[in-house]
Amino acid sequence: MNMTPGIRAIEGCLLGCAVGDSIGLPYEGLSTRRVRRFARLPLRHRFAFGKGMVSDDTDHSVFVAQALIRGNAEPAAFRRALAWRLRLWLLCLPAGIGWATLRSILRMWLGLRNSGVWSAGNGPAMRSGIIGAAVHSDPQRRRALVEASTRLTHIDPKALAGALAVAEVTARLASGTWTEQPATAELTALLHGISPDPDWQACVGTIAEACASPDPIGAAHAAFAGPGGVSGYVLHSVPFALVAWHHHFGDFRATIEAVVLAGGDVDTVAAMAGAMAGAVTGPSGIPSDWIDDIADWPHGVAYVRKLARRIVDDSVSVATHFSPALLPRGVVFTALVLAHGFRRLAPPYR
Ligand SMILES: [Mg+2]
Repeated sequence: MNMTPGIRAIEGCLLGCAVGDSIGLPYEGLSTRRVRRFARLPLRHRFAFGKGMVSDDTDHSVFVAQALIRGNAEPAAFRRALAWRLRLWLLCLPAGIGWATLRSILRMWLGLRNSGVWSAGNGPAMRSGIIGAAVHSDPQRRRALVEASTRLTHIDPKALAGALAVAEVTARLASGTWTEQPATAELTALLHGISPDPDWQACVGTIAEACASPDPIGAAHAAFAGPGGVSGYVLHSVPFALVAWHHHFGDFRATIEAVVLAGGDVDTVAAMAGAMAGAVTGPSGIPSDWIDDIADWPHGVAYVRKLARRIVDDSVSVATHFSPALLPRGVVFTALVLAHGFRRLAPPYR
C-alpha cells in the first residue's frame, strides 16, 4: 500500500504500541537480573503457546483513538468519550490496572468531575503517543487533548510532562519533522520546553547525558532503573523509553529488546517505546512475526490497524464503540496472567 508519511506514522504508532506491549508482557515485573537470564534473543511471542496478547497499554491507546474519532478531536467531547470507555473497561476485569487509574475510574463512577488523583504513574504516557501522531499538525489542540486524557486519571504535573513528551515526539515523527535521528540537543530542547517542573527539568538533563554517552542504554539503566528494572514512575519509564527509541532510531526490534532486557514495568515501557519506534518505521518496519503472532480480540492487529487508518480516512469502516467482548476476553486474559504468576514461583524463574 502507498501510504503518506502521516498515515504510516499513525498506523505504525498504534500498532507499535500493541506490539511492544504484547512482546513485553511476559516479562512484566521481572528484575533486570532475572529477565537477562531468561529472555532469549531474538525475542518472540511467549505469553501463551507462542502467541501474544495485549494489555492495558493497548486497550487505553485504542480507547484514545476511538475517543479522538468520536469526539472529532475536540477536547471536551474527547474527554467524555474516553471517560466512558475507562468506566466500562473497569467492569471487564482489567488485570494489572494501575492503582491511580483504579481510584480515578471509581471517582468517575461516583460522578466526580475532577476524577484524577495525585500520582506520577505512567498511565497517561502509555496512551498519549497516538494523540501526538493523530494531531501532529495542531500543537495547541494536541496539548489540550493530552491534558484532557491525563487529568482524567493523574493530576501530578510530572504525569502530564511524561505524556506530553511521548506525544510531542510522535507528532514530530508523523509530521515528517524528524525523518532521521534528531540531534540530542534538538530532542532535549523539545523536552525542556514541555514543563517547568524542576524534577522534569533535571530528568531531561539526565536524558541528555545518557543519549550523549558511549553506552546510552547502560547509562539510562544506571540513571532510571534499579535492580528491579525500570519502575512505573513516569520519570523512570518515559526517560528510559525515550533513550531506547532515540539510540535505536529506526530499528524497532532493537528498541524493544533494549526495553525488555532492562526489566521492570516492561510492557508499558515497551508500549511507549514501541509507539515512538513504530511512528518512525511505519508498520513495515515492525518485525512481521511480532505482528502476526498476536492472537487477541477485540483489540487485535486487524482492528488496531483499521482504527488507525480511520483517524485520517472517514471512509474506513470500523466500529468505534466500546466493545462488550472485552468482558469475556478479560476473564481469559486474567486466567493467563494468573498462570504466569504461578509459573514464576517454580524453576527456572526461582
Ligand atoms: Mg500493561
